Parts: sequence; C-alpha cells; structure tokens
Amino acid sequence: MATIFSRIIAGEIPCHKIAENEEFFAFLDINPVAVGHTLVVPKQEVDYIFDIDDDALGRMMAFAKRVAHAQKAAIPCKRIGLTVIGLEVPHAHIHLIPMTKESDIYFGKGKLNPSQEELSEVAEKIRKGYK
Ligand code: AMP
Repeated sequence: MATIFSRIIAGEIPCHKIAENEEFFAFLDINPVAVGHTLVVPKQEVDYIFDIDDDALGRMMAFAKRVAHAQKAAIPCKRIGLTVIGLEVPHAHIHLIPMTKESDIYFGKGKLNPSQEELSEVAEKIRKGYK
C-alpha cells in the first residue's frame, strides 16, 4: 500500500506544496514545530533515509538546500535546521525547520496547529523564494 507521502505526491491527498523536481517533493508539515516547517521526500518510496544510495542522497540534500534558501528568505529566523526522525511515516523525509533558538527544532515541546489558511499563506511566501 502506498505511504501517505506517496499519496500526497500523487495528488490524492492535499498538501501545501513548496517545490518538486523529477525525484523529490517538498511540502509543509501539517503539524509544524515552527512556522515554515517543511518536509523533503523522495518520490521513490524508501522507508529509511540511509537506505537511499549515495548519489540520490546527495541530490536529495541539494534539493533540500534550495528549499532551505527559500524558507530563509520567507520566514524570520536565524537559520534553517535539519533533522531526520521517520518514526511516524515509513517514507524517508528530511524536516527543514526555521529556527532562532535551539528549542525551535525540539519535537518534544509539542506542535503547532495552524489553520489551512495560515499554512497556505506560509507556503505561498516560501514558494516565491524558491529558485
Ligand atoms: P516522522 O515520521 O516522525 O519524521 O514524522 C512525520 C511528520 O509528518 C510529522 O511531523 C507529521 O506532522 C507529518 N505529517 C504526517 N502526515 C502529514 C500530512 N498529511 N501532511 C503533512 N505532514 C504530515
């Protein structure tokens, strides 16, 4: 059965898309730990990120870098933090999180619950800076 992220990539489940190329897809996390929290996923279903082959993992990081620059331009923050967890959704993904202090990237503090309108506005801002 397709993962929830594959269903998002296929357009079966709505998302607030940021960018995509032939191999990767970026969209807002629905329950962000910070405003602008974005997920980068490979279109090919792989559960564990370190099962991705070296070259594809490099390309995934290069794609994430472009998304991070767009986030940085759109969201007031010091830098974009990166983390990999993968305990909830068995489809490899990188969390890209705007942060000003260390706790901004801490998942144990609980998540935000933005409205669809808020997510839509944030996604629009980030998309404008994606090059
Ligand atoms: P983890 O697998 O532990 O790295 O966490 C999966 C992440 O995916 C969590 O931060 C969820 O909020 C996020 N997530 C789950 N379902 C969706 C969805 N339909 N749209 C956007 N983000 C999602």
